[in-house]
Formats: sequence, C-alpha cells, structure tokens
Amino acid sequence: MATPANPTSSRSRDAASGGPTSVVETACPLDCPDACSLVVTVQSGRVINIDGSHRNPVTEGFICAKVRKFGERLYGPDRLLYPAVRKGRKGEGRFKRVPWDEALELVAQTFRKTKAASGGESILPFSYGGSNGVLTQDNLDAHLWRRFGTSRLARTVCAAPTGAANMALYGKMPSVTYQDYPEASLIILWGVNPSASGIHLIPYVREAQKRGARLVVVDPRTTALARSADVHLAVKPGTDVAVALAIHRHLFANGYADEAFLGRHAHGADRLRERAEFWTIERAAEAAGVQAASLARVAQLYAESSPALVRCGWGLERNRNGGNAAMAVLALPAVGGKFGVRGGGYSMSNSASWGLDRAWSKSPEPETRLVNMNHLGRALTEYDDPPVKMLFVYNCNPAATIPDQRRVIRGLEREDLFTVVFEQVMTDTALYADVVLPATTFLEGYDFAKAYGPIYLDLARPVVDAVGEARSNADVFGELCMRLGVLGEGEPKDELELLVRVLDGLPETIGEDLRAGVQPSPPFGLAPIQFVDVFPNTPDRKVDLFPAALEASAPIGLYRFQNDPATDRYPLALISPASERTISSTLGELPRPDVKLLMHPHDAEARGLADGDLVRIFNDLGEVHCPLNITAAIRPGTVSLPKGLWRRSTRNGATATALAPDTLTDLGGGACFNDARVQVASLASG
Ligand code: SF4
Repeated sequence: MATPANPTSSRSRDAASGGPTSVVETACPLDCPDACSLVVTVQSGRVINIDGSHRNPVTEGFICAKVRKFGERLYGPDRLLYPAVRKGRKGEGRFKRVPWDEALELVAQTFRKTKAASGGESILPFSYGGSNGVLTQDNLDAHLWRRFGTSRLARTVCAAPTGAANMALYGKMPSVTYQDYPEASLIILWGVNPSASGIHLIPYVREAQKRGARLVVVDPRTTALARSADVHLAVKPGTDVAVALAIHRHLFANGYADEAFLGRHAHGADRLRERAEFWTIERAAEAAGVQAASLARVAQLYAESSPALVRCGWGLERNRNGGNAAMAVLALPAVGGKFGVRGGGYSMSNSASWGLDRAWSKSPEPETRLVNMNHLGRALTEYDDPPVKMLFVYNCNPAATIPDQRRVIRGLEREDLFTVVFEQVMTDTALYADVVLPATTFLEGYDFAKAYGPIYLDLARPVVDAVGEARSNADVFGELCMRLGVLGEGEPKDELELLVRVLDGLPETIGEDLRAGVQPSPPFGLAPIQFVDVFPNTPDRKVDLFPAALEASAPIGLYRFQNDPATDRYPLALISPASERTISSTLGELPRPDVKLLMHPHDAEARGLADGDLVRIFNDLGEVHCPLNITAAIRPGTVSLPKGLWRRSTRNGATATALAPDTLTDLGGGACFNDARVQVASLASG
C-alpha cells in the first residue's frame, strides 16, 4: 500500500538571497484545539518560514505566534542532534555523543537487566502530549510497555477530570464546533482563554456578538474576551462547581428545567437536583466571591436563551473540585433543554470524532502497576514495591510540568535511577538523563493533525529531512520492540509502516480521503447538532446525569464541594494558566521577557509591594523568585504565573509546579495545580 500523495504546492521561485525556495503544505498536530493547516517555506533543505494555509477552513490562513517561531526550536541551540550518554553529574547536562546503535543497545540491555533484577514494574514509561500526534504515542510505544510488562502510566496531568465527566455524561459525544458559535444567542466561556489556547475560536465568538449574542466569561482573570463580555464572573479558583450548581438550582426551582427532554433523553436528574438544592444564588456567589446579582443574571440569561452554548474549558478542572465542576457545567444543557438546535448545547473536546482509537489493533493492557503521572515525585522517591529503577521519558518535560517539582527533581537526581529521555530539545528533564535520544519534530515526519475544537483531520507531512540524527518516535520504538523481541510478525516497525496501518484502519472513507489530500468528514458531518445528528455514546444513548461509578469514586460524592485549602500562612490562590508563548511546555526553551507574577493592587498594597519588585512566592513545598506585575486584570486573593515555564524562566530555577501539591482531583485523578496556596513577599525583605 502506497504512502499518501503529497498535496504540496511545490513551487519554486528565486529568493532574494540564498537560492530557490519551495513551499510545502502540512498541518500542526501540537496540543492545541485548532490543528491549523500550514504552509512552510523551505530553502536549501531548511525551514525559513512557517505560515497558515487555507486548507483548513476554520483556521483559514492564520496561525499563532508560537508555531511561527517553531524554526527556532528546529535549529536552535537546545536542539538534540545525536544520541548521547551522560558524562557529568545528573542535572549538569554534560553528555558524550554515541552512535544510535550503541545508545539503543545500552537502553535495550538496561531494560533486560532491570526487568531481570527488579521486575518489569520497576520500569516506568513517562509521556504526555508534547507531539500530540497519533503516530507519536500510544502505538509502538504502547506495544513495548505492554508486552514488556512495565508499570503503566495514568496520563492525568490534563483533561482527566473533564474527560471523565464528558465520558460519564455523554460518552464523549461530538460537541458544537467553532463554525456554529455564531448561531448562538448566548455563549458562556467557562474556564477557557482562547487568546492563549485556541485562537481561532475568537473570530467566531466575535461574529456571534456582532449578531447580538450575549457573552458570559467565567475566569478569575479579566481576559481579552472577558473585557467585552456582558457578564464576567471572576470566580475564586475551585468554586466553579458551586456556581454551576446554583444555575441548575435556578433552572429546577423556576420551571426552566426541560422535563420533557430529561424524561426522554436522560436519567439521574432527580439526584442532580437534590445535590444542587443547597446552592442558592447567594450561597454560591459568596463561595465564589462574585456578586449575587451577576450570578443571578447569568442564571436567568441561560434559562431564557436559545440557542445557548457552554464552552467547557480545562481551567476549571485543575483543583480539588475540578471533576464535579466539569460534571455540573456539562450537565447544564441537558437540564436547561439547550440541545437540538444549531449553536446550542456544549462545546468541549472533539478529539473522539474520528475513531482513531480504533484505527489499529492494540496490545491488551497487562495488570501491572498503574502510576498516576501527577505522583511522579512520589514514585521516584517513595515507591518500593518495586522501586522505580528505570524511567523512559518522551513527549513531555516532567521536571517542569509535574506537581511538586522539588520532589520530582529529587527523584531525577537519584544515582541508582537509569533515565532515558527521548526528546527534540535539551529539556529540564533531559539534563538528568543517562541516555538522551534525539527525536524528530512534526516538520520532519508524518503524523495526524487532529483538531479537538473544530472537527478537522489532516496529515502532517515531512517538510524537511530530520535535523542531525533525530529519529521519529515510531522508528525508535519499533527498533526497541525488535531488539527486545516483542514485535509480532507483520506488525509495523517504523513510521511509514505505522502510517499505512493507521490509514488502512480508519473507518469509512477517511483514510482514502487523507491519502488523496481531501478533507475527510465523519458520518455525522463537520458541524453536527447535538441530539439531532449525534447522540450520547453511552450504552442506552441517554445522558447519565448521576453516574453511579463516579459517585462511588469521588471522595465525597458527585456534585459536592470541598472547601478552599487556603490557610492564614498561605492565603493566596496561585493559578498557572496557558500563555501565548508555549503549548503546554513546548517552546518553553525560547528566550522570553521576564516572567512576572500577576497580583491585584489590593493584595500588593497589603504586602507593601510595588510594580516590578522582585518577589518570592512560597509555601511549604517550595518557592519561586520573579518580578511582580500589579494589575487589576486578576481578582483579589488570586495570583498567577504562566503554565509550561521552563526552569530557566525564573530567577531561582523553580516554576509554578514547585508550589503545586500533588493531590488529585475529585474525579479522574487529575492535577490540582490551582490548589496551590501561597504567600508572596519582597525578595529584598528575605
Ligand atoms: S499551536 Fe494551535 S494555533 Fe498554533 S499553529 Fe498549531 S494548531 Fe495553529
């Protein structure tokens, strides 16, 4: 079976200098909802420009500033160019170049020895969505981990609580896409800031506003969209569940609940109603630190508007109540009867729309130890049954991104831990590696770009040859599978074979369309109406508003509220939202202006702090040093540092994760970054 035709509009022209150029079409698979189509200019085998193309009708020719700069990662000083083994102390970053064969044999031998000495579970694979493609994770790597019997990883650092809620309520039913936002007469953006992640949503929201739609933003910060909102609820972090339940109560108590819809399409409404009963508008407003009148207005707007659309983001999940917050927000359109019209319902991840998880046969999951990735620090420093002896990190940078940073680094420093880091650049984590393997980026190989905001799927194609000796994830995991004898007869062993296997396994005509360079469409189309074109993927195709399994797993049950963890010593809530500079932590190596802590003027005044002061943000877990930015764009009592910072971004090499507890969310085992409670003081005062 042939590989896909390249739809490259390969045209050459004389460049002003440096010889002829060609223009190559590809797509962005990075961890962002939009999956832009890209046009990349190449000269003498090097990328010289990255811009948007019009293949993707939603992203329509413009892209974020982050990926415009991706060439700086590709050719930057941090790029890993060849395999290397450690020479200096862990963390020092001194390595010696070795040939691929030697590096892979060392890794394979260490796999064998570690398993023989301490069992397969003493090996911990560790990954997240750094490349976010389909070929870069959960295929040949999964074969290796499952068949070799390593510990398993629960990938929970992001989207675990919202994913658990969406799955339990609706079986991840496809949701309202960007194109249908202008049809809404009310849009609630809840815990999401598209200016930082998902920029292509903004024109659709603006178009809706032009047509007269009301906009509500729920966010502790006054974001660009919040400034133009009809109502901005600047809630305290962790209180979204109370706010959403108060809206439910308003709907139930005032005859706005759609009993006919609930009777036909849902069960569990009575239990939800019982749990919402406590949350009067006044109680919820007090808990969330917002005006009761503002919350009452939102509840009434929601009750009366149709089409009404709730965009459930990921900001609301990063706390002890995050799973229940997602449950309560996602349940709103069912109770309010907002489905069945274009522009009405909810909008969340559409990543499940393509059936890509069924695209190839998966090895069965063994019953080995399951390690929650938010507990990496504990796993490396405390687990002893068996202890983690070998760590294989790829597609992520846990030294920067995982809660309780100090403990994670203590673990990485262990001399008896053999760490392999397979990466594109020398990350904070790679500095602690025993073996470093260089990985290709999405501009150097094939992958699938799968949007999770719009419903859009495209192929990312190689634009240039691999830089240095970098190899693709599939090539390296295929090679390791072969060396360790866990690859079955006829199974794909490299990127091209895997690409063909995935294309062949795609449902309907999706694979053929992708091969031909045609935009595929799932059977329900690119802009389905919920409860007209798509229905819940639950066993009975109904909404389960009170899933028994989640009620049993949540520490104090469903739709419950756990109090704020603030103390007198650490009264400020630290949030770490996505920024305009990184995609999670990808591109965090690029130089950036001073990272600043955002703080409300009242909080600064109470501490005698002035704009630009160098401050220490601290709690019992650690401290971060950086300058202060005093701004009314954040609510009092809450301070903010960007998500995805690398250690070089602050004055003392610590980031917001140094202050985040490794406690878990109420549902899904997610990270509680926004439960960090801190104090801030001038660095000068010690
Ligand atoms: S990160 Fe998002 S906005 Fe930027 S190019 Fe990729 S898909 Fe587009």
